[in-house]
Amino acid sequence: MTNTTKQVNVAEECDGKCSSCSTSDGCNDHRKQQYEQEQKLKLKLSKIKHKIAIISGKGGVGKSTVTANLAMAFAIQGHKDKVGVLDADIHGPCIPKMLGLKGQKLVGGPGGLLFPVTGKLGIKVVSMDFLLPNDEAPVIWRGPLKMKIIQQFLSDVTWGDLDYLLVDLPPGTGDEPLSVIQLIPDMDGVVIVTMPSEVSEAVVKKSVSFAKQVGVPVIGIIENMSGFVCPECGAKIDVFKAGGGKRIADDMNIPYLGSIPLDPKICNDSDGGLSFIVENKTSPATKAFLEIVKEIEQFLEHTEPSEKATKPKAV
Ligand code: ADP
Repeated sequence: MTNTTKQVNVAEECDGKCSSCSTSDGCNDHRKQQYEQEQKLKLKLSKIKHKIAIISGKGGVGKSTVTANLAMAFAIQGHKDKVGVLDADIHGPCIPKMLGLKGQKLVGGPGGLLFPVTGKLGIKVVSMDFLLPNDEAPVIWRGPLKMKIIQQFLSDVTWGDLDYLLVDLPPGTGDEPLSVIQLIPDMDGVVIVTMPSEVSEAVVKKSVSFAKQVGVPVIGIIENMSGFVCPECGAKIDVFKAGGGKRIADDMNIPYLGSIPLDPKICNDSDGGLSFIVENKTSPATKAFLEIVKEIEQFLEHTEPSEKATKPKAV
């Protein structure tokens, strides 16, 4: 591609909102760099069939737990060696621990290439945790530096041919999840994780609005910690309020993907890096994860490529 062609393309991509664009060479250079980076990303991620972000309006609702178990559920249901997880939570990366990969490091290759760490069922994982010297080391970085590392995780990592890349976004609907989502081209959509309480219900609506504003399809809502099934008698106890996720999905006219009950084994297995759904094949939570994966696959089957968020909007 010649420089002239590149410039034409850069201009086409420009939304014209930047007033200094036509007058400042610096701005043009910046846009050109940004455009080239986007093209590199597109090419790099073109071997990944589906990219799904997992979001939650607030922390602690089980977003990472759901991400890790969905990855395993996809792998079990016909996608072994074809699932990747990008842990985009820079400050609290916990996917490696949940997938039994704690202590591993990213391996570099020639030309600055990076290779994901591969875990059970061939799940490929990239996380800030693999770069930290120890558990006590905090990441005290400003926004641009954090985005730079996520960009590198996407563009410099050799993900290979994947059916699914699940992106565990930082919690909330602020700057960070927004910036990460905007980095990822051709995003299939977001899965929103909530738990049954009014506080969580209120924030999940923000997540739906967030996805709509950035122009990314909402694949659906998952209600986690939805009741507790007594291991002794099988009775279901609603520890928190039940049914909020379904109600919001109906109100907002978006798919409801399913409910995952509270199960102490989920927490124990996550902490121990054990594969909950592999170890507990008959548990109601395992069945829920497997059903949710089917729902997601059905949603994706009925989505035209043109409905994907080619380039999430800046807001
Ligand atoms: P988030 O990513 O939303 O901050 P996590 O996935 O880290 O939340 O989950 C918070 C805690 O709750 C973890 O200790 C996790 O093991 C536990 N947890 C999540 N979902 C469940 C569940 N369905 N049953 C039991 N424990 C759960």
